[in-house]
Amino acid sequence: CGIVAYIGPKDATTFLLEGLQRLEYRGYDSAGVAVAGKAGTLKVCKVKGRVADLAAAVPANFFSKQRGKGSTGIGHTRWATHGVPSDANAHPHTDTSGRIAVVHNGIIENADELRARLLADGAVFTSETDTEVLGHLIAAHAVEGTELEDAVRAALGHVVGTYGIAVLDAAQPDRIVVARNGSPIVLGLGEKEMFVASDVAALVRYTRQVVHLEDGELATVRADGFRTFTEDARTVTRQPSTVDWEI
Ligand code: GLU
Repeated sequence: CGIVAYIGPKDATTFLLEGLQRLEYRGYDSAGVAVAGKAGTLKVCKVKGRVADLAAAVPANFFSKQRGKGSTGIGHTRWATHGVPSDANAHPHTDTSGRIAVVHNGIIENADELRARLLADGAVFTSETDTEVLGHLIAAHAVEGTELEDAVRAALGHVVGTYGIAVLDAAQPDRIVVARNGSPIVLGLGEKEMFVASDVAALVRYTRQVVHLEDGELATVRADGFRTFTEDARTVTRQPSTVDWEI
């Protein structure tokens, strides 16, 4: 239902929780955040209920600042389509190793077929959602030395359905990879920091410079800029537009 992400010098969780609050009007049943922790690990906190419940559940030490590496995180409010509203089914969803986290809006139509294949390859599933296949599928392509954007692109080549996604790899915390196919993704350009949301409403307090992804496009988002490209790896140039809303 709602997606937010942050990469930059500040604590990611602050923007993630504020951004999710701004998306509350859309309705949802659960909420969660994941941040890159130290030494290639992720911290994930997700609950059934309100963003306020999530904020209360986030531990005091849930900072995401890596030594000298800044702060990277993703967040989600879920409107369940596959699997009941529950803590386990709330996003973000991770791969078996807990290194890759995904938030997703939309529906993966071939999730059952993908899940069967991933289970046969040893993936351990912890939710009933269609979304969880994405984390495992990206991990299967994120073999040693692969850039996260290439792993995401390769994984999406196997996916049938609609998605707006944001992906975090604790081993590559200098970037967030996003993709859009039938569910909106907007980049918000800051000063040495970047924001992502599924709706500009989450961004306008932080920046007025935005880039809307088009269907079939992905972006690699770093603190100091972004690159947009297509599912067949062609770079596309997107000029930012200015949001002139009153808030
Ligand atoms: N299909 C996913 C789920 O049920 C995403 C739902 C959403 O768009 O919030 O978890």
